[in-house]
Amino acid sequence: MLAGLLLLAALACARPDTLPPMTTVTPAPDVHSFARPAEARVTHVSLDLQADFTTRRLGGRATLTFVRRPDASEIVLDTRGLEIQQVLSEDRQVLAFRLGPAVQHLGQALVITLPASGDRITVEYRTSPDAAALQWLTPAQTAGKDHPYLYSQGQAILTRTWIPTQDSPGIRQTYDATITVPRPLSVVMSAKSLTPDGTDVGNRQRAYRFKMDQSVPPYLIAIAAGDLAFRALGPRTGVYTEPAMLERAARELEDLEQMIAAAETLGGPYRWQRYDVLVLPPSFPYGGMENPRVTFVTPTILAGDKSLVSLLAHELAHSWSGNLVTNATWGDFWLNEGFTTYFENRIMEALYGKPRALMLATLGRDQLVRDMAAMAPADTRLSIDLEGRDPDEGTTSVPYEKGAALLQTLESAVGRERFDPWLRGYFNRHAFTSITSKQFVVDLQQELIRDDKALLDAIDLPAWLDQPGLPAAAVAVRSPALALADDQARRFSKGAAASSLAVAGWAPQQWQHLLEQLRTVPLSPSQLRDLDATFRLSASGNSEILFAWLRVGVARQFPPVVPPLERFLTGQGRRKFLRPLYQDLMQTAWGQPIARRIYAAARSSYHTVSSQTIDGIVK
Ligand SMILES: [Zn+2]
Repeated sequence: MLAGLLLLAALACARPDTLPPMTTVTPAPDVHSFARPAEARVTHVSLDLQADFTTRRLGGRATLTFVRRPDASEIVLDTRGLEIQQVLSEDRQVLAFRLGPAVQHLGQALVITLPASGDRITVEYRTSPDAAALQWLTPAQTAGKDHPYLYSQGQAILTRTWIPTQDSPGIRQTYDATITVPRPLSVVMSAKSLTPDGTDVGNRQRAYRFKMDQSVPPYLIAIAAGDLAFRALGPRTGVYTEPAMLERAARELEDLEQMIAAAETLGGPYRWQRYDVLVLPPSFPYGGMENPRVTFVTPTILAGDKSLVSLLAHELAHSWSGNLVTNATWGDFWLNEGFTTYFENRIMEALYGKPRALMLATLGRDQLVRDMAAMAPADTRLSIDLEGRDPDEGTTSVPYEKGAALLQTLESAVGRERFDPWLRGYFNRHAFTSITSKQFVVDLQQELIRDDKALLDAIDLPAWLDQPGLPAAAVAVRSPALALADDQARRFSKGAAASSLAVAGWAPQQWQHLLEQLRTVPLSPSQLRDLDATFRLSASGNSEILFAWLRVGVARQFPPVVPPLERFLTGQGRRKFLRPLYQDLMQTAWGQPIARRIYAAARSSYHTVSSQTIDGIVK
């Protein structure tokens, strides 16, 4: 306690505006980090890195500012695959360091002997060409085909493959960076840009400078470099992407300002000044990554009709849940994703109405129920034990949808008049901190439940957090529009012609649902041909509908879906789409050779986040 108070006093003098007082609380123990933050804890990272697209390495230095206990003799950082050249003190003395044994998933501890005084060290290093966080694309792998491209993906514990720091979501850090790239590439980071056009530094190189004054978990430090164009969408919003995709992306994202206004009504003021969106090349393994100030998204959301912008509502919601209030460990991942899934749905309701929000919520709930039936019961708890495992294994629909179901149930129990002020207050009370599930429970009891004993019993928090499955108390979600799709699926499976189905004016989510229902029904090849010919499903520009249709075709071993399937699996690298399709194929003797052939051709174009998952499926 005493050390904590002393640190707080020291920080208050040195950097009053960059670190809130809560960050001096010792972070929760994190089984996915080697750091010993109670002894010495990184508070700021200053990067000076050069990108070499020929050797596929970032190289240079990271200067770390830290707070320390007076008796601390070492600082421990997380690294994986970094080549450490030397470590220097503030007065440029060489400091002793050692790398610990390599541990699966986690990498190696970098243990540095601290000088007797000082609060800053510099690590000189370079990344390995196969750093898991970094994807280096050849010009051929981009939309424009003329220039190489680099982007990072730090979540969950990949930042340590490009920055030697304490890589735990509970150890928040501010950062600044100078990144040098060959001309004419430009650089975007999850920080304020100080030199939007860069500065020529000779030898056909250009440097870009950035600054992030608000403390973030290290997984949110992000970079992209390529032939990037920018278009403003509103006073604080805009889109970055390759010039070839700019027009299309700007059209699809034109509701962004409205979306932020809707989110602020629920979460309180947007605190990160700008909200830009970077539309990445197709290999991006996720739908989106909520990097602060600039969300990274897959181009598969560009459906042409804004039908997939709920993904953007999700990433925007993370500006509150995840980025402002962060899960302290990956076992508390639902605090990021459950809150965000709930929040996303409220944004969609405010912008596009209750029926659409209800469709999305119902699709999410159905997915949860299907997934949980096939999962180990222990992994269906919200507070999950990931010791000895890759935190990525916790990325199932449980933290998202069971977490959202808990908040939907709370909302329905107390009504929005009580629930909404609590939610806004929760973001305020914990702003710029990382919290555990236990802290959530304390907040909920003190600020929402208070002395409402009946509510406490009705909610049954232990059943949500520590027990498997969906608690009986979970509020039901049911979309009438999806019930219509159910009816049509039933009619079709019983032999009705596709042209006789009542589908006029259907939302894409209804199509998705219809196809999801048909996947488990024994349809004949002529029925499948009828469905595809009538609705042109194989040619759908909506990636969710195409995905759902391809799964129907694969389930029925329907040869005409193989060409569109091959195009889809080689044309984008989003793991959410890849994993189920490869899994479906590998389940049958018919599908196995198809999966192996397509994967052999596509693997090198995928990000390692995706290829590591698919390596375990296609053997
Ligand atoms: Zn999310």
